[in-house]
Amino acid sequence: MQTTEKTEPKLSELKTRLSEINDIEAAASLLYWDQATYMPPGGAAARGRQLATLQQISHSKFTEPSIGQLLEDLRPLEESLPYDSDEASLIRITRIKYETAVRVPAEFMAKFSMHRTQSYEAWAMARPRNDFALVQPHLEKTLDLSRELANFFPGYEHIADPLIDFADYGMKASFLRSLFAELRLELVPIVEAITSQKPFDDSFLSQFYPEAQQLEFSLKLIEQLGYDFHRGRQDKTHHPFMTNFSIGDVRITTRVYENDLSQALFSTIHEMGHALYEQGINQNYEGTLLAAGTSSGVHESQSRLWENMVGRSIGFWKFFYSQLQSTFPKQLGDVSLDTFYRAINKVGRSLIRTDADEVTYNLHVMIRFDLELQMLEGSLDVKDLPEAWNERYRSDLGIVPESDTDGVLQDVHWYTGQIGGMFQGYTLGNLMSAQFFEAALQSHSEILTEIEQGHCITLHNWLKDKIYQHGCKYTATELIRGVTGANLRIEPFIRYIRQKYGQLYTL
Ligand code: ZN
Repeated sequence: MQTTEKTEPKLSELKTRLSEINDIEAAASLLYWDQATYMPPGGAAARGRQLATLQQISHSKFTEPSIGQLLEDLRPLEESLPYDSDEASLIRITRIKYETAVRVPAEFMAKFSMHRTQSYEAWAMARPRNDFALVQPHLEKTLDLSRELANFFPGYEHIADPLIDFADYGMKASFLRSLFAELRLELVPIVEAITSQKPFDDSFLSQFYPEAQQLEFSLKLIEQLGYDFHRGRQDKTHHPFMTNFSIGDVRITTRVYENDLSQALFSTIHEMGHALYEQGINQNYEGTLLAAGTSSGVHESQSRLWENMVGRSIGFWKFFYSQLQSTFPKQLGDVSLDTFYRAINKVGRSLIRTDADEVTYNLHVMIRFDLELQMLEGSLDVKDLPEAWNERYRSDLGIVPESDTDGVLQDVHWYTGQIGGMFQGYTLGNLMSAQFFEAALQSHSEILTEIEQGHCITLHNWLKDKIYQHGCKYTATELIRGVTGANLRIEPFIRYIRQKYGQLYTL
């Protein structure tokens, strides 16, 4: 075929160019990993500069017009191949990312990045001092820059849409707004019903649990769940994250609180979920743009599926609880499985998103999502944000933060990123996790029995086959439809919540 003869060399040239860019980005990720784990504080200034230099090199290499030309030359090949073939997908996904990257001028990127560094520094001072006024001018500028950024992508339906696209491609504000409104309507009465009942006792989780034993137990746990230590490792950090430098090196980080058993335990399983996704990507995609999770929502669906649907299930602890008890005989020897299971699934009205339980978590996220949209639309001024925040906590969660430290200053996102597109992925992830898990159980009912036997081979294989191996070949919307046969919807999540918490509480 003539098309193939002419285009094959172009495709391998594209792959070579992408692989070089990927190498630079992997080096940057490794520098970032080191910064967040082992780097002495004295390295901070130079490290910031080194990261910025690498990012600038990779951005300029990727936006070279010759990449655009290669993609143009490859159009006939792409059109001659099936949509989901590896080659067509590589060309398609690279084009989407290329067209996004070239629209934002390099000077704007540099300006925004410098502003974000200043804004982050102001936030780091303002938060412990409960001083919103200190970040207000920075946040006002962030809002202006976020609007400017969105306007590099004209033709949007809502000004947040281009910003949402960066993390959750194709998810429009109008769709999310109605999906989240539906969800809130279901969740608020469930939270009411639960919190009017006597809270579970979880005080035994805050006894003294030595760090070494906590780490040893959680490492054993994730190895048994399928995390491949030959292609990964775990280290300590302040804010746990997952990162990867290739499909063969996918690392996780954790933090341990010796007076809180659940911190390290569940954040380790959470990050492992992110890592299983990246470890499961088709090896042939190495070095290309296909070798990544497809959206922040789908990524979060994997961390939450493993953390909550597996890691906080009764079946899981039927197997693992005796091992946890023998690791901590003094602390847990007299605590029954049932008491432990209730404690790790305690629901309450709380102020801090990252500490929230499965039932209330999405309410926290939706507050932030709505406020982002209002600020972008111009119906909420930054100066009125703390009051708007507190008002929404009063109406949605029934509590009001006593300080901005525990209110509008709690999350780093707006102070280090843009306003718009920063939060929806968390709730999308929770909804998707339930829809995926339900589909997995429908085709393999033995998954629940296996979890009770302490392994998840069938579930892990199903996820690899249906989701992980594809990397970002499919968009989130395509993936959900392909895997579950339906569009994203709230019902599977609500069914999951009603079923699980209907057994724990009277609903
Ligand atoms: Zn996560």
